[in-house]
Amino acid sequence: MKLIFISGGVISGLGKGISASSIGLLLKKHGNNVSFIKCDPYINVDAGTMNPIEHGEVFVTDDGYEMDMDGGHYERFIDINLSKDNAMTTGQIYLSVIQNERGLKYDGACVEVIPHVRNEIISRIEKAAQKCDILIIEIGGTIGEYQNDIYYEAERVLKRKLRDNLLHIHITYLPVPKSIGEMKTKPTQQSVMLLNERGIFPDIIIGRSEYKLDEIRKKKVVTSANVDTDAVFSNTDTNSIYKVPMQFFDQKLDKKILDLLNLPYKDIDFSDWKNFCLSIDKKYDKEVNIGIIGKYHKSDEFSMVDSYVSVVESLKISAWTNNVHLNIIWIDAEDEVNGNLKECDGIIIPGGFGSRGIEGKINAVSFARKNNIPYLGLCLGMQIAVIEFARNVANLREASSFEMDKQTKDPVIYIMPDQVDKIKDNNYGGSMRLGKYTCVLNHNSISYLSYKKDQIEERHRHRYEFNNKYRTQFERLGMLFAGLSPDEKLVEIIEIPKHPFFVGVQFHPEFKSRPLSPHPLFSNFILASINKKYGTIR
Ligand code: GLN
Repeated sequence: MKLIFISGGVISGLGKGISASSIGLLLKKHGNNVSFIKCDPYINVDAGTMNPIEHGEVFVTDDGYEMDMDGGHYERFIDINLSKDNAMTTGQIYLSVIQNERGLKYDGACVEVIPHVRNEIISRIEKAAQKCDILIIEIGGTIGEYQNDIYYEAERVLKRKLRDNLLHIHITYLPVPKSIGEMKTKPTQQSVMLLNERGIFPDIIIGRSEYKLDEIRKKKVVTSANVDTDAVFSNTDTNSIYKVPMQFFDQKLDKKILDLLNLPYKDIDFSDWKNFCLSIDKKYDKEVNIGIIGKYHKSDEFSMVDSYVSVVESLKISAWTNNVHLNIIWIDAEDEVNGNLKECDGIIIPGGFGSRGIEGKINAVSFARKNNIPYLGLCLGMQIAVIEFARNVANLREASSFEMDKQTKDPVIYIMPDQVDKIKDNNYGGSMRLGKYTCVLNHNSISYLSYKKDQIEERHRHRYEFNNKYRTQFERLGMLFAGLSPDEKLVEIIEIPKHPFFVGVQFHPEFKSRPLSPHPLFSNFILASINKKYGTIR
């Protein structure tokens, strides 16, 4: 069993998830089977009940676990499919312990945080570690917070058992205050002391900063953190997260980790990733403007791109592979959208919940449909497209989704039968239609042209679906049901064949796009947007 614990110090938002993913990628390149556990110190049982404005996107795994957005980074960087075993939250751990106690699983013991809660964490780590060569465990939050102490305590106990097979990498922040003009190491020294107080002695320090750590700064950190002279690395601010593995590779962080874990090191071929990174800064002749109409990207003065991170990454990856520069135009569904829409060469409506911003989104779809602007609707984006079609093509003026309007005469999007009781019982957590489902494609569709497969598997997260009562009527009016569940009961993809690219999917393709294998739907959407702008014939 080989474990790497990753912690963060000084400030939050250091990109621990990106560092963990980058380390994972390098170790995978060395032929190791790498996996992850993200430890989230909150009481929520999963990320599914959290507002994305607060916490970023909810990432869905194949087996339907609603994970923190770091799950998306792990999957994209090292090209694996995660499951519920790759994450834990404090709420989940306590829930298990309490359920065990109610089930008399502790032989009459007084059940306490130590050992029972701590041991539950340890047993989950050990279980996940059995399925891979190296398990990377990212401890959420920042060292010194009350909330995450129990995870360090679990690590301390594991370290006694595993000795050299357990490695701790501490990621810290080194500020360069303008008024001083020098990189300061004191916050790092103090965050290492906080680790030490918990019985954790880091083996490697990664210093996140605006600049590279120079020799003087490295020496200071080496002395105060008590690590090997070659165990301090830099993670310099960069314009793309995908360059972080390159930074680590150039500093031979992989060698240091493998040496410490007593695993073989050899030169690796990193050219595929290097080439991908080259595409990030290339000067492209062409550019496309893609409008994303959402409501989770505005938080006072801050733009919360994190709420849609997988959509954004999928777009970037597909733009680069299609040799085009991507501009994203963020359009708030509650603002007056029409002005900005005119600048868009392609329009996306991503997933969402509740009625806020719905009318603005419907207007945006109308604009895309009538002006032949490529449209990709993701989950809620497909449902909105159906409502727009109902109102403006089928003339069902009051059509809506049952989610937004319980009284509507025409609920063209209706609640899934198995969801009715769940909502009645206030059973909201982890109870949507979640995870991977098969969808059968119609051969005459853009979707089939994109995927080039009869059947696909995509990940879902929704409670509502297309209302089959309207299928024949809408089909007659020009809507194509391009993808159905194998029993044909559920509409998974709608298209409007008269339009150059009008695709709405009930699933979330953004969760499956990877840097070296862009998602076919996103790639074709970008291609259609290029064609719209430059007039190329498909
Ligand atoms: N709110 C919609 C539903 O529950 C769409 C969900 C989503 O976009 N992920 O069906």
